[in-house]
Amino acid sequence: MNLNCEETYQRMQDYLDRELSAIEMALVTEHLIGCGICAEEFEFEALVLRKLGRTLLDTDIPKDLEERVLTAISNA
Ligand SMILES: [Zn+2]
Repeated sequence: MNLNCEETYQRMQDYLDRELSAIEMALVTEHLIGCGICAEEFEFEALVLRKLGRTLLDTDIPKDLEERVLTAISNA
């Protein structure tokens, strides 16, 4: 059994959260190894997840984002 791109994409979030069964983890891994498109998408998702996980601790937030947030708050 092989996953297609759509099936892989649907499982990507759970894969990153380690919420898939061992068999499904293996199937997703197998697809990512063989599919450049999904591998790239996975890289991106993993990067976003890492950034989100670090947001509260990391003070290295882009200046314009900080300003946009502050503006949004003061306009509320
Ligand atoms: Zn694919």
